[in-house]
Amino acid sequence: MRSGVHGNEPAAVQNVGDFEITLFRHSLHWWDGGTYFGVVPKTLWGQKIQADEWNRIPCGFNCYLIRTGDHTVLVETGGGDKFDERARERMNLPPEALEPLPEAMARRGYDPEAVDIVINSHLHWDHCGWNTLTHGGTVAAAFPRAQYFAAFGEWEHAHERLARDRVSYLDANYDPLVESGQMTLLGGDSEVVPGVRMRRAPGHNRDLMIITAESNGRVFCFFSDLVPTRHHVQPTWVMAFDLYPLESIESKSKWLEAAAEGDWICGFSHDSEVAFARIARRPKTSFEAFPL
Ligand SMILES: [Zn+2]
Repeated sequence: MRSGVHGNEPAAVQNVGDFEITLFRHSLHWWDGGTYFGVVPKTLWGQKIQADEWNRIPCGFNCYLIRTGDHTVLVETGGGDKFDERARERMNLPPEALEPLPEAMARRGYDPEAVDIVINSHLHWDHCGWNTLTHGGTVAAAFPRAQYFAAFGEWEHAHERLARDRVSYLDANYDPLVESGQMTLLGGDSEVVPGVRMRRAPGHNRDLMIITAESNGRVFCFFSDLVPTRHHVQPTWVMAFDLYPLESIESKSKWLEAAAEGDWICGFSHDSEVAFARIARRPKTSFEAFPL
């Protein structure tokens, strides 16, 4: 199923065993295509996706809802609104991008109150931006009923404030939740609720977690920024953001192989069109994504 240029249409749904998985694409934003494809020349990636006159490509703030029957798990919370006017212009943000995620969900027929688990694959602003809402000087949980989960190593890294990636981190997205006890920081691979797991897949950064949801032998996998769009299934097509590109190639090869082997249903963090895809092995290019 495809959604149009504003990314604001009814979401795509897949049943995976007894679980129901829904893409909630909060909105699109536009980001420099070169940063998305790293050392891959534009003569190659330009054949896959059209850049605008500023070399920007459309990207989704993709969140996935996993309904297990006992739990409603929200994976990622999108970009939030904790940035200035210049950043909004640079990303060509549509007005709906500034609608708080719980309100956007309610408007599109999803009950934000039902969310009892929130998982962040990592703590870059574009993955946890609507974890919290700011009113004046105060910060509150956007999903008050939910327990939030992230990787401890990533939270530590966020506080290292390295010149290379400190702009990616906004403490207001997670620190108030850690302080209130609403966010649990996990030491490594963990089963958050029965069948739903966070699994370390280093490369984009040291502690990036991908999320799998398994029911009755069927698996959904959210690749996060390990495979941000369907165009990134070639293991060597690594984003320029990645701190450890060699590890990205290793992690991608491992998890894409598992996805192809197991006939997994996969979701991507920033694909602007596709909600779900299957992965197949290809002799020449290693892997190919088949949108569902
Ligand atoms: Zn991202």
